[in-house]
Amino acid sequence: MKIFCIGRNYAKHAKELNNAVPTQPLVFSKPRTALLQNNKPFYHPEFSKNIHYECEIVIKICKNGRHVQKEFARNYYKEFSVGIDFTARDIQQQLKEKGHPWEIAKGFDHSAPLAEFISFEETGYSPSNIPFHLTKNGETVQEGNTSDVIFDFDTLICHISKYFTLQLGDLIFTGTPAGVGPVAIGDQLEAFIGDRKMLQCEIR
Ligand code: ZN
Repeated sequence: MKIFCIGRNYAKHAKELNNAVPTQPLVFSKPRTALLQNNKPFYHPEFSKNIHYECEIVIKICKNGRHVQKEFARNYYKEFSVGIDFTARDIQQQLKEKGHPWEIAKGFDHSAPLAEFISFEETGYSPSNIPFHLTKNGETVQEGNTSDVIFDFDTLICHISKYFTLQLGDLIFTGTPAGVGPVAIGDQLEAFIGDRKMLQCEIR
């Protein structure tokens, strides 16, 4: 199982970090040991002083494929969820300045809390209109809708599958809207799709 993530897929988020809006999807990945499921707490690692939350809609690949054409991409995902792409922003910044890979800033253990998957069919949501938000200690800190993405899910599948064979169960974290920020020990994060609470994560 592979975990793909998309950087800077919401224009306002790209701008808040002073990054250019990309002209093609910015793809990176996390190892499967990054997953944190069943609402388990996140233990703040000692190597970073600035871990940021990034709340994102996640889709699950339901069919193997490579070189998927955009017109067929919709057949490759039936379920979605919400997750957090925890990022050691201080380490990422240092690595970016040197032109080095981001890997350790993004792929460290438990950097990808993930809720249960729900189906598009059962919930009636369209991939291009999923409202979601994240609260920290009860206050909304990020609010997004997949209608605002720069590259829609079909485009992401088409693009990623040019380089990587997509396999059943692979995940795509589809990017975060504006409002990213730091977490501290004791914080409670909760992620919602519409009004439905999907995920909670305590920082310990
Ligand atoms: Zn992200």
